[in-house]
Amino acid sequence: MAGTIDYNKVKDRKFYRNLGIIAHVDAGKTTTTERILFFTGRKHKTGEVHEGAAEMDFMDQEKERGITIQSAATTAFWEFEDNAYRINIIDTPGHVDFTAEVERSLRVLDGAVVVFDGKMGVEPQSSKVWFQAEKYLVPRMCYINKLDNIGADFYKSYDTILEHLSDKAIPIALPVGIESDFNGIIDLVSMKMRIHKDEEGKEIEVKDITDEYIEKAKEFRDKLIEMAVDTDDDLAMKFLEGEEITEDELRAAVRKAVLAKNLFPVMPGSSLKNKGVQYMLDNVCRYLPSPSEKDYIQINEEGEEVVYMGEVPGLDPKTDHTITRKLDESEPFSGLVFKLAIDPHVGNLAFFRVYSGELRAGTYVYNSVSKKKERIGRILMMHANAREETDIVKSGDIAAIVGLKDTNTGETICDENKPIILESIDFPEPVVSFAIEPKTKSDQEKLSEALGKLVSEDPTFKAETDKETGQVIISGMGELHLGIKTDILNRTYGIDVSIGKPQVAYRETIKVEGKHRELLKKQSGGAGQFADIEMILRPRKQGEGYKFIDSIKGGSIPREYIPSIDKGISDATTAGPLGGFSVVDIEVEIVDGSYHDVDSNTDTFKTAAFYGFKEAMKKCKPILLEPIMSVNINVPEEYVGSVTGYLSARRGLIKNMVQRGKTKEIIAEAPLGELFGYVGDLRNLTSGTAAPNMQPSHYAEVPAGIQAKILGAEDK
Ligand code: GDP
Repeated sequence: MAGTIDYNKVKDRKFYRNLGIIAHVDAGKTTTTERILFFTGRKHKTGEVHEGAAEMDFMDQEKERGITIQSAATTAFWEFEDNAYRINIIDTPGHVDFTAEVERSLRVLDGAVVVFDGKMGVEPQSSKVWFQAEKYLVPRMCYINKLDNIGADFYKSYDTILEHLSDKAIPIALPVGIESDFNGIIDLVSMKMRIHKDEEGKEIEVKDITDEYIEKAKEFRDKLIEMAVDTDDDLAMKFLEGEEITEDELRAAVRKAVLAKNLFPVMPGSSLKNKGVQYMLDNVCRYLPSPSEKDYIQINEEGEEVVYMGEVPGLDPKTDHTITRKLDESEPFSGLVFKLAIDPHVGNLAFFRVYSGELRAGTYVYNSVSKKKERIGRILMMHANAREETDIVKSGDIAAIVGLKDTNTGETICDENKPIILESIDFPEPVVSFAIEPKTKSDQEKLSEALGKLVSEDPTFKAETDKETGQVIISGMGELHLGIKTDILNRTYGIDVSIGKPQVAYRETIKVEGKHRELLKKQSGGAGQFADIEMILRPRKQGEGYKFIDSIKGGSIPREYIPSIDKGISDATTAGPLGGFSVVDIEVEIVDGSYHDVDSNTDTFKTAAFYGFKEAMKKCKPILLEPIMSVNINVPEEYVGSVTGYLSARRGLIKNMVQRGKTKEIIAEAPLGELFGYVGDLRNLTSGTAAPNMQPSHYAEVPAGIQAKILGAEDK
């Protein structure tokens, strides 16, 4: 497909929009994205989601589940006011189990359209993503979709936005007709009606607002003006003095307010019926920021939030001080890799966003995190399932590099002479795992290859083989997350696997300091074995990990054996003495020992360290730690009691309750081990009205009684 698109037709970076379409599952994100591709000419026929043909959802299991799993990036062009705009759509999944995917997309996009279901209004996931977007300073527009549906109500949905999300949301257009009569919109800036004349949505008649709508339109236009002039003193003055505000002035004021996150324009539409999509695209061009107009935020050493306008902050790897790059092609090159993927035809792809400068294919870049130089093979511009090669990418571009070897998600690539480390993307550690087994022996090899690919694509997914049982264990962010991976194994790779019971990723640590001496001495004929190590174990703070300290003086253990001792201990930390869970947050100091001239070697010291550590742990009050999830549940008032009761019975701790319009948001923490099946339980408890959400928060000590139960169950 190379060369089918003339990238040069977009004359200036100010005509670029890196856009996210974000929504609650089923609000119509996929349909909307697909319609954008249709109207921008990438597709010539609309493929509806329920027919399973949308271009963005190119993976079978996505089609089947109807949710978008993969963060695909696609490029489209839109002609607006005599200029060609380039719209890079970065897909963001709406499902709760994919927080990491959403976060990394939000990190690299400049503006978003939040899609709402016109009957449901704000739903829990839309509010979750809304506030995530707020954290990343992403300017937003609201698109109230599905207005053709029976029961749809633009104004009620708008009210839920005001109630739950922001009082800075304001319609810039109103619907004409509703449900099956919905056939156009009223633009409150030009005060014109745009009536659709055909089913494809291509023919639009622009006319004066009819009597039926004029009062309502005036009322909302006044509100819009009031809100827009709020951030523009000159215009506010003019408005107060009763002067007429021109269309251009109002548009400029709206734009300024949108960029400042002081105004969120609200628009009506029906993506399925091809209505309102073009108008929304016009407004993406009109009001959302270009790549150089985006603001960034960084937490400084004092823990304060510092906002950078029109430049991106990072660390100078040499001095550790904050430096910035203007979002401009004249600056030294810097870019952030936000997703790795494996393409069956071209191999490893690293999706990245260029923040500053430019990058040419065939040159070298510096990874300021891994401190390695990488050759840039080919650079590809991505569409949902097509790709086009390009020689150069510049500030603001989103593209994929083929063949990077030592670069992971969240790392910065940059000019070697002007290095910078852009803020990385944090990914939570997996908290749940299952054992999986291929149903046929011959699939064993295929399985490890497929898992290798899946792991490299998703930083929150892990796969490993249990050394003792030989079982393959996959771990991730939740049951659904892992369910989707096994689906991919089945559909994409043709490997049918059986799945074990979900296991919680408990960990082990110690509570008190203790000393232990391990003596390995065997003299059974032939060559003997000898190693003698004295170690002190001390607990460390949560998250500090394992630390090895060598305090051997005077050669009681020869230098060459020390690394083997470290290795033996770190091997032992993979399976603690309580239940075989990984051991964390322990410091081990080697203080004394002895050796034998003939019978000691690196292996004997490694073995003694391995067993010695396990014995030592038993003397230090070993305990189990369990993952605690932070849980947010939105429920109608009448179910609050049953839900809090349910959580309390599961060792949950209610932290807060917030009124969200007519519903309450229950904010709680509960151990993951108690939460299996809770989505279904809550559904039953609340007649399907509860909207739960959870993510890993931290690890905490398991109460003694429960520890015995967990370990008892492990033995069986
Ligand atoms: P996503 O989960 O947010 O990606 O939502 P989809 O685009 O997959 O849409 C979910 C369902 O709503 C599908 O059955 C769509 O056909 C349907 N849908 C999407 N947009 C509209 C719309 O404007 N009107 C109506 N009536 N249905 C829609």
